[in-house]
Amino acid sequence: MDLTVVKNATCTFCGCVCDDIELHADGVRIVKTKSACSLGESWFKNHTAEHLYPDALIDGKPATVDAAVDATADYLIKANMPLVYGLSNVTCEAQRGAVALAEMVAGVIDSHTSL
Ligand code: SF4
Repeated sequence: MDLTVVKNATCTFCGCVCDDIELHADGVRIVKTKSACSLGESWFKNHTAEHLYPDALIDGKPATVDAAVDATADYLIKANMPLVYGLSNVTCEAQRGAVALAEMVAGVIDSHTSL
């Protein structure tokens, strides 16, 4: 099987943002990395193009994204100072959206790094 080789890929796992990673992919998963540390290699190799999970969950049950957005809005409207939390492995655009959401709902924001 031919492998696709991507040079100078960026790893966003830990925050160091190494941008000199070489990746070899078989169309579904990354099968080889060069220049990534063991954490980065594990992160790359365990992210696949397979659709392993439902698009969204509501109370642990599969749901559509639209239904999940509606349920989330309902939770946020009823919440008293909601916590917007997480944000590891997400894009700058997603972080910007999360900050805007926290401001909109008069909430607070934190990331896993505070642990
Ligand atoms: S390759 Fe390792 S050090 Fe570099 S960003 Fe990824 S996890 Fe961090």
